[in-house]
Amino acid sequence: MRIGILGGGQLGRMIALAGVPLNLSFRVLDPSRAACAAAVAEHHVGEYEDYAALADFVAGLDVVTYEFENVPVETARWLSLRVPVFPPPEALEVAHDRLAEKLFFTRIGIPVPAYGPVTTRQDYDDAIRKVGLPAVLKTRRFGYDGKGQTVLRTDADIEPAWTLLGGRPLILEQFVKFEREMSLLGVRGREGEQRFYPLVENRHRDGILHQSLAPAPDRGSLHELAEKYVGAALSTLSYVGVLAIEFFVVGDSLLANEMAPRVHNSGHWTIEGAVTSQFENHLRAVLGWPLGDTSPRGFSAMVNLIGQLPQREAVLATAGAHLHLYGKTPRPGRKLGHVTLTADTREGLAEVMRRWQG
Ligand code: AMP
Repeated sequence: MRIGILGGGQLGRMIALAGVPLNLSFRVLDPSRAACAAAVAEHHVGEYEDYAALADFVAGLDVVTYEFENVPVETARWLSLRVPVFPPPEALEVAHDRLAEKLFFTRIGIPVPAYGPVTTRQDYDDAIRKVGLPAVLKTRRFGYDGKGQTVLRTDADIEPAWTLLGGRPLILEQFVKFEREMSLLGVRGREGEQRFYPLVENRHRDGILHQSLAPAPDRGSLHELAEKYVGAALSTLSYVGVLAIEFFVVGDSLLANEMAPRVHNSGHWTIEGAVTSQFENHLRAVLGWPLGDTSPRGFSAMVNLIGQLPQREAVLATAGAHLHLYGKTPRPGRKLGHVTLTADTREGLAEVMRRWQG
């Protein structure tokens, strides 16, 4: 079986790594010659809107998936006329636009922060009145890892924020004074079977995921709530594959921030920390195979390696540390790899984390 992946970054690389033991082979489409999934997959260099390149890419594939959510919906639809494409292009369409995403969440009963859509200056003033300050002004499309957004703390920030982002389709969101950020990954098979990984606590630095703790400590009834929300999204979209939803935790409630219709950074711990990794389960789902057990194996912490790499030997010498390098050239703010720390108990994990932090 040959699987096509739109996008050749680290997520594609880890999907392919999970598929090799199942005797699957992979072809990735990525415009960059330096795409890091090329180490483990046939690499087609091409743009996502180049239909000649797409025709060449899809020839001989059994199924197509994506690891990069800014793939044009039209591309996914065009490919889906030739070969099954999972997750469904509709999920991509919802995830592309922060306003469509909020309307979708609201329609299926998932709470979201107060917000107002903003196109004109009048909308902006109305949204500020409705949402209040502090607030976050975000571009509706192509935002990720805190990019394309700015925080309005006081009235003095109103004009500079408009100068920075005005003129594009935007959304103004209430700045949520959350206690924690969490995410839940669910997977749905072609026949509708659903499974969920444990709720994970995520800590960000400069808008980029820095660390995930799995399972999230002290999660009380939040897991059930998150499972209900992600389950509703999976069913409504007739979804196939892994889906992640990120939440803000406020008391006993969860407010959805955004969804990712793909394997997700907050699920990297599952490679060593769960019975079946998110990458293998994504493949099982898109191929229509039985899903694997999503139970955790003990306790895990995933730490992203951003901008620069630690000394390899020091990581490898830490008992309980698992090093993953993506083969990317270091650059400030770039995700270059991750380390997953694992232990049988939460106390043991705290000890491994102390050793790792030196
Ligand atoms: P995003 O690109 O929407 O995932 O945002 C990146 C990070 O910015 C989130 O993980 C939060 O830490 C922070 N953030 C985004 N939106 C809000 C909000 N409405 N209120 C508070 N923090 C936010």
